[in-house]
Amino acid sequence: MKLKTILALATGLAMFAVPALAADTKPQIGTFGFDVAGMDTSVKAGDDFVGHTAGKYMAALEIPADKTNYGMFTKLRDLSQERTRTIIEKAAASGGAPGSEAQKVGDFFASFMDEAAIEAKGIAPLKPQLDAVAAIQTKADYAELVGRNFKLGVPGPIFMGVGPDRKNPDRFIVQAGQSGLGLPDRDYYLDDKNPSFVAARAKYKAYITTVLGLAGFDNAAARAEGIFALETAIAKTHWTRVERRQAEKTYNPVPVAELPTRFPGIEWSRLIAGSSIPVQGDVIIANPSAVEGTAKVIAAADIAVLKDYMAFHGIRSASAFLPKAFVDANFDLYNKTLGGQPEQAPRWKRGADLTSGVLGEALGKLYVAEYFPPEAKAKADELVKNIIAAMDARLANLAWMDPKTRVAAREKLAAFTPKIGYPDKWQDYSALTIVRGDALGNARRATEFEFNESVAKLSKPVDRGEWFMTPMTVNAYANPTWNEIVFPAAILQAPFFDPKADDAVNYGGIGAVIGHEITHHFDDQGRKYDKTGRLSDWWTAEDVKRFKEGTDKVVAQYGAYEPVAGKKVNGELTLGENIADLAGITIAYDGWKRSLGGKKPKTIDGFTGDQRFFLGFSQVWRQKYREPALLQQLVTDPHTPGHFRPYVVRNIDAWYKAFNVKQGEKMYLSPEERIKLW
Ligand SMILES: [Zn+2]
Repeated sequence: MKLKTILALATGLAMFAVPALAADTKPQIGTFGFDVAGMDTSVKAGDDFVGHTAGKYMAALEIPADKTNYGMFTKLRDLSQERTRTIIEKAAASGGAPGSEAQKVGDFFASFMDEAAIEAKGIAPLKPQLDAVAAIQTKADYAELVGRNFKLGVPGPIFMGVGPDRKNPDRFIVQAGQSGLGLPDRDYYLDDKNPSFVAARAKYKAYITTVLGLAGFDNAAARAEGIFALETAIAKTHWTRVERRQAEKTYNPVPVAELPTRFPGIEWSRLIAGSSIPVQGDVIIANPSAVEGTAKVIAAADIAVLKDYMAFHGIRSASAFLPKAFVDANFDLYNKTLGGQPEQAPRWKRGADLTSGVLGEALGKLYVAEYFPPEAKAKADELVKNIIAAMDARLANLAWMDPKTRVAAREKLAAFTPKIGYPDKWQDYSALTIVRGDALGNARRATEFEFNESVAKLSKPVDRGEWFMTPMTVNAYANPTWNEIVFPAAILQAPFFDPKADDAVNYGGIGAVIGHEITHHFDDQGRKYDKTGRLSDWWTAEDVKRFKEGTDKVVAQYGAYEPVAGKKVNGELTLGENIADLAGITIAYDGWKRSLGGKKPKTIDGFTGDQRFFLGFSQVWRQKYREPALLQQLVTDPHTPGHFRPYVVRNIDAWYKAFNVKQGEKMYLSPEERIKLW
């Protein structure tokens, strides 16, 4: 269950020499925590802030061949991968008893790494799945297998699962919505103007043909045409990503008994029976018109095509655990064509990621014991407190908001739960069986285990101690239904955070990340949840109107950026993230000032405190993309590309003063044009 996260997808390589516990007092980067050598002072800060703060670094930065993008997040991910591998190897060498976490970790990884065994088995591990598809006689049989596939992680034309009830945060509820595309977004099927999308369609059909051929299907090319036509018909019913961001529009309770009449064309009772989800009362439908449209597509489809479609996605979702020919075909489409990545990541890296995905908290507890110093947690606690206090002071003085709403907003802030580093209680993996030598079986059982865990939540009190990221994750999230902000151990490292670096740099780095997650709860969607985490209308109409006047300016400002020729940032899709960037840096700056307790910061190496704050902020966003990956991000990701995120400083008065930015410089905005929301 991925919530709002600060960065998008990336996979990893390379090294970042960060000792876990340095004995000296020197920061890991430069003399005060910032890479001065990477600056290019021939570029004016006011013309291009990224060029000024990191021009030399960016010019020398090369994306490793096994990556689609590279930057500070990916560097730390590489470090997490290496550490994860060390932990896995230690666990494997410890000779854990059967059923122990050490056994599961070691055997999951070893089974994946044993390429010879995987080659020798060929497509035999797929047989039960393909036999089940072949046995389908009717659309009702098909629906039942769609439901059963939820447990195995095989995508179908719609999804159903269990998630937090946004209007009743003390329980979980069954949810369903659109799904079923093999390409990253509906635009890849429907947008004829972009040649990359048109080319991707041909590549995708070729991929389907290859995969079906490898799995022994005859007439693979003709089947691929059928599958692609079906997916295109489904894509036409799909909501756009902008529509899918709207919290209240995606909350549509429908009594389970009414599903067949509201969305005719799917045998709902068989689908639910197949899923084994004990559905009672309402199902929350995320995108009713898409589910309705998809149901019609299924009703009209030839059953042979539906079976091919299911078989193909079953194989595709198993690719990582199949022989090399499947792995290579998958890489060729998803990484090379759609991401521009020249080479595959070494197998051990893929294995470390997959093991983290399956047994993340078993690894996580070992990770934090080894790599997360207690003083990092204590220091991060202090930053969070100062930045929350800064946000509170902003709310107390907010001119545009109704006084009563302001009181409620401050209550919401006071009710926040910050989580730092790792969970208090670790996940129990005792119900998961991992068998050495059964790579695909392990993966399927792990997916089913997670699915069963989520279904069990329907009948249990909500455990708010749960985490949705592992400690090794270089990221953070804000979870609106639990009114919480969460920072895994691995993001609390340089360049984001270094207890030995200058405070101004830390507040600009991790402080702005903390501010970002705090203010997600007050972005255009997060604001709709009250202090209990319930989706509800707690603002006056006038508050909403005034806030929207501000956020419309954010949409316009970001919508003018053009990271790829001919493809601008989608200001509506990225609105929530951009609001969080803008408000986040604002309160991080206030929080830093607060931490000074009235003292004037000294100048270090010729940089004022204010300069160091903004340098620290810019430093974490040094990032490069391959063009296909950038294009994909612009279409699918709610985050503005990393190298454009530092430009948010254009809205901050203190930045103009710190770098003496003047009218006529490219990033200059007049005081009236600078956007202030919170
Ligand atoms: Zn975010």
